[in-house]
Amino acid sequence: MPHTTLIRPEIRALTAYHVPPAAGLIKLDAMENPYPLPDELREAWLTALRDVPLNRYPDPRAQALIDTLRGALQLPTTAAVLLGNGSDELIQMLALALANSERTVLALEPGFVMYRMIALFAGLQYVGVPLRAADFAIDLELTLETIARVKPVLTFIAYPNNPTGNLFDTAAIEQIITASPGLVVIDEAYAPFTDASFIHQFSRWPNVLVLRTVSKMGLAGLRLGYLIGAPEWINEIDKTRLPYNINVLTQVSAIFALQHKAVFDAQTAQIRRDRDQLYASLANLPNVRVYPSEANFLLLKVPSGRARAVFDGLKQRGLLIKNLDGAHPFLTDHVRITVGTADENAQCIAALRVLLA
Ligand code: PMP
Repeated sequence: MPHTTLIRPEIRALTAYHVPPAAGLIKLDAMENPYPLPDELREAWLTALRDVPLNRYPDPRAQALIDTLRGALQLPTTAAVLLGNGSDELIQMLALALANSERTVLALEPGFVMYRMIALFAGLQYVGVPLRAADFAIDLELTLETIARVKPVLTFIAYPNNPTGNLFDTAAIEQIITASPGLVVIDEAYAPFTDASFIHQFSRWPNVLVLRTVSKMGLAGLRLGYLIGAPEWINEIDKTRLPYNINVLTQVSAIFALQHKAVFDAQTAQIRRDRDQLYASLANLPNVRVYPSEANFLLLKVPSGRARAVFDGLKQRGLLIKNLDGAHPFLTDHVRITVGTADENAQCIAALRVLLA
């Protein structure tokens, strides 16, 4: 028998991050952009890749990519930029840079599950503060009380939040930042779908960093996230980065994509319009509650005890969504639907109409 008891108990107690098989299904489960690279760009992209030297390590600092990011996304000139293999890796770098077993990571719940998982990987304590059950807004009193008690070294605020889709009140976020003895990371993974952002405000506070990703704008396959903040913070956190973490194909492809950012902007603008359309259609279904969303997904509460049947029924009809029932006490009877193409959304609505009749 292998001695798996050597594995730390908190790791053995975890369930591995679950990605369900999606072959042959319309993917409305993972907040991807449904549109592939347009044909006319695909050829130019392949040309850009043709001369990439695979025998050499990539530029360890990915300087050309950082420069392109700064320009294409108009990042604040005072900010330093740290790149990760997805923003997941940046969450991990933050945890590694700040970890020890007496320190605590704090996040709002229900929220993005990797904050807790990565805190545990890195040997940090983790405390989840419940949002308000009624509307998933920040419970400011409870959050400030918890901050005073556990003194988190690192706090994550997803803005908009996943899986609830809402933006939190900025005044509440500002109070959390001011009350926090540690770093506060504003995770703007869903920035392409909202006008709200802290990206030009981080320097108002000494303890704020902003986390972003290119995943949701249409480049999830590249695995590229970026962390923005004061050079003093970024330089320290950079020390936990593994050498060459951004591979050469990602560097070249991301530079290419950012040079054609208008194409992705048009796609995300379309997704925003389709989100509002899908929201209206879901709101018209009987016996459901759909929550307002500033992201590229919608949270839906279905009749009591029906989430599994809705998930299975959609799957039988070729549509994969996310069943959140059981993921958190506030998410009982909830499912999450990523905004797809107009046609995919219409198929989803048609199927839901049958399933909820
Ligand atoms: N933050 C939030 C809030 C997310 O929902 C996700 C992915 N679903 C991520 C970060 C991770 O994104 P990635 O690793 O693809 O950059």
